[in-house]
Amino acid sequence: MDLLEHQGKEFFASYGLPTSPGEVAFDPGEAVAAAERIGYPVVVKAQVHAGGRGKAGGIKPASDVGEVRRSAEAILGLDIGGHIVRRLWIEKAADIAEEYYAGFTLDRSARRHLGMLSAQGGVDIEEVAATAPEAIARIHIDPTEGLAAEACRRWVADAGLNPAVSDQAVDLLSLLYRAYVEGDADLVEINPLIVTGEGLLHVLDAKVTLDGNASFRHPGYAAYDETVERDEREQDAHARGLQYVGLDGTVGVIANGAGLAMATVDIVDEAGGVPANFLDIGGGANADVMSAALEVVDGDPAVRSIFINIFGGITKGEEVARGIIEALSRVDIASPIVLRLDGTNAAEGREMLRPYLSDSLRLAPDMVQAARMAVTAAASAGTDDSVAAASAGTDDSVAAAEAGEGRP
Ligand code: GDP
Ligand code: MG
Repeated sequence: MDLLEHQGKEFFASYGLPTSPGEVAFDPGEAVAAAERIGYPVVVKAQVHAGGRGKAGGIKPASDVGEVRRSAEAILGLDIGGHIVRRLWIEKAADIAEEYYAGFTLDRSARRHLGMLSAQGGVDIEEVAATAPEAIARIHIDPTEGLAAEACRRWVADAGLNPAVSDQAVDLLSLLYRAYVEGDADLVEINPLIVTGEGLLHVLDAKVTLDGNASFRHPGYAAYDETVERDEREQDAHARGLQYVGLDGTVGVIANGAGLAMATVDIVDEAGGVPANFLDIGGGANADVMSAALEVVDGDPAVRSIFINIFGGITKGEEVARGIIEALSRVDIASPIVLRLDGTNAAEGREMLRPYLSDSLRLAPDMVQAARMAVTAAASAGTDDSVAAASAGTDDSVAAAEAGEGRP
């Protein structure tokens, strides 16, 4: 669950990290009213789930009413990395002497938390990470031991921060680590972490990803979830209780179990197609969940074929077959379906399906052939324009890129 900058700052502030006073605004009038209360100069900041806002024109300083109004008008409605700006954060402007970078995330391959700290923070941190990785000091932290003061001190020295702020940096990083661990975050990043004109370390930007699975421990996180932008398909799927992630391709995917759903996405790719989604219907495959899954996948206008990949375990083949037959009698599906059914009582399930097979519902002998059939069906179902529309979502997090994180 990704937080907006102002939510990230609220999260940080609750752990004692120094942030600036500010207010949320949804239109230029609110922006002006907020600036008047905060006092000039202010900075008008786009609140979207994307980085690189500064370079995209989404961060503007303003020193009077007119400037706030003009900045707010210019920023609202901007498209930043595919996200339209509908919310602003008006913040007391800070006086910047230096810009640093600090972050924590999980390094799965090392089975440790990873801390990163650089004296060369700011809007070009991605470039620093790519061209001068040695400018980012790294520390691996054993989660059972935590961040020891001595190790933190060496890390700070390593990063080459201004020695005048070393003590502050050790304190601030300890608080940041605490926020990361106790707050059940997957990622926390401050870029820039500034030194003010008065020589104080201060949080000027916040990128926070919380572990949604820990929300039950933090009642306040529900409010963050409300602002998470989901595309229409995802909203629809989540409302039906499905584990769905929208992707950019034409082959709709329905599978039982997250692992199999991931493998299905991979094998569609391997077969030369592009998956339209990740969808895990979980252990059961009854008519209700199958109907819901088919409706969500078929409702995606980019979908040209649907690959249902079921491996029967506790759910037997007959139950799966019954679920599919009933789902198809309830909902009208436009795209051709390719079904792979294996596992417990697969033969019985296939036998039950036989009378229902046609060009719109075909049974594949195995997973690889099912993928090929689904990809071929998608390709022959009209011009494949959305394959060209390749990548969305710029990865704006250095820490996430370092730790090799990615969406399923
Ligand atoms: P990002 O581009 O999405 O990472 O947005 P940031 O919040 O990091 O802002 C980008 C840049 O704008 C920062 O690196 C600063 O240089 C500048 N900036 C942001 N807030 C302030 C501020 O209060 N005062 C000044 N002088 N510059 C700011
Ligand atoms: Mg930033």
